[in-house]
Amino acid sequence: MNIHEYQAKAVLKEFGVPVSHGKAIFKPEDAAAAAKELGGPIWVVKSQIHAGGRGKGTFKEPEAGDKGGVRLAKSVEEVETFARQMLGNTLVTVQTGPAGKQVHRLYIEDGSEIATELYVSILVDRSTSRISFVVSTEGGMDIEAVAHATPEKIITFAVDPATGIMPHHGRTLARALGLTGDLAKQAGTLTEQLYTAFVTKDMTMLEINPLVVTKDGKLRCLDAKIAFEGNSLYRHPDMVALRDLTEEDDKEIEASKYDLSYVALDGTIGCMVNGAGLAMATMDIIKLYGEEPANFLDVGGGASKEKVTAAFKIITADPNVKGILINIFGGIMKCDVLAEGVIAAVKEVGLNVPLVVRLEGTNVDKGKAIINASGLNVISADDLDDAAQKIVNAVKGAR
Ligand code: ADP
Ligand code: MG
Repeated sequence: MNIHEYQAKAVLKEFGVPVSHGKAIFKPEDAAAAAKELGGPIWVVKSQIHAGGRGKGTFKEPEAGDKGGVRLAKSVEEVETFARQMLGNTLVTVQTGPAGKQVHRLYIEDGSEIATELYVSILVDRSTSRISFVVSTEGGMDIEAVAHATPEKIITFAVDPATGIMPHHGRTLARALGLTGDLAKQAGTLTEQLYTAFVTKDMTMLEINPLVVTKDGKLRCLDAKIAFEGNSLYRHPDMVALRDLTEEDDKEIEASKYDLSYVALDGTIGCMVNGAGLAMATMDIIKLYGEEPANFLDVGGGASKEKVTAAFKIITADPNVKGILINIFGGIMKCDVLAEGVIAAVKEVGLNVPLVVRLEGTNVDKGKAIINASGLNVISADDLDDAAQKIVNAVKGAR
């Protein structure tokens, strides 16, 4: 789960991390009051969307102006103008894709006088099974280009979970960022604060870009991005409360209500599969035969009829879906339960695209009999290869 920059900064502030004063607003009418309360003389008006690259982003609508999604304002009036321009309009950045994201919230923040922009992030490093810091002196809006062109400027170090964060990690970070004297001391404290926040809140990623040195010699986090581990959210209800559903795919929200593992993709073949490994294999074989999956969907080992019905409805509601492949291995899940779920769903929502069903395992004969007796126009398949070819041919034939 991701949260907005202003929320991330509030979380980090609890751990003592230095962030600027700011106010989140939802309506342009609130911009002037927020700006006056902060006091100025310089403000930064920041679009809040779950995507980076906002500074260099562009709005789709001309009335939103052409200064990007993060703007420096020198008066209360300018803050207000920017707020009117940005709120409600669609910001396109390198991370949003061409469709962009509509801006529903702004963060108005004290402007900092920046001497240098640095980069610090923490992530779960699966290759070392440790939490790693990734840092660079080349922070700011071009970090991806730095990683690509001059990877030696990106420095990584891991924290041994047996010791946790130690003063030497702070010194390593300071050295990597070229910080000395009092700034190195600040870096030591910051290293500990960021790590503690990361572990306490079960984050999978924490990115500060830029971490700046201000002209008066202070370290400050000017941007913050946090992703939380989904499987740990149950122990952080206060973080779950920060979830912004407008940032998420409607189909994924619906799927999460039924505890389905669902990820929307761009292809044409809707997939309903049990088991993540089988789901991945199903997506691979669809690609092998020349089509693209419309989603990843794992209905889980012990899916109920209700869950199967919900999953089927989510797939058919996607206008990009031109064919559906159901690939179920009945282990804990019984093929007859699956068949009943599918038929219940088809009766409720109808079926306008070809449907290929491949069943195997517990009660497979009962399952096939239920589908055959239903009178539905279902193409049955014997194995995965056969199923993939049949659905790909059906979709191609319909074009
Ligand atoms: P994004 O990474 O989405 O482009 P940032 O929050 O990093 O958005 O802002 C982009 C740039 O704007 C930063 O690299 C920094 O130079 C400048 N900036 C952001 N916040 C402030 C601030 N409070 N004061 C001064 N400059 C800022
Ligand atoms: Mg940034």
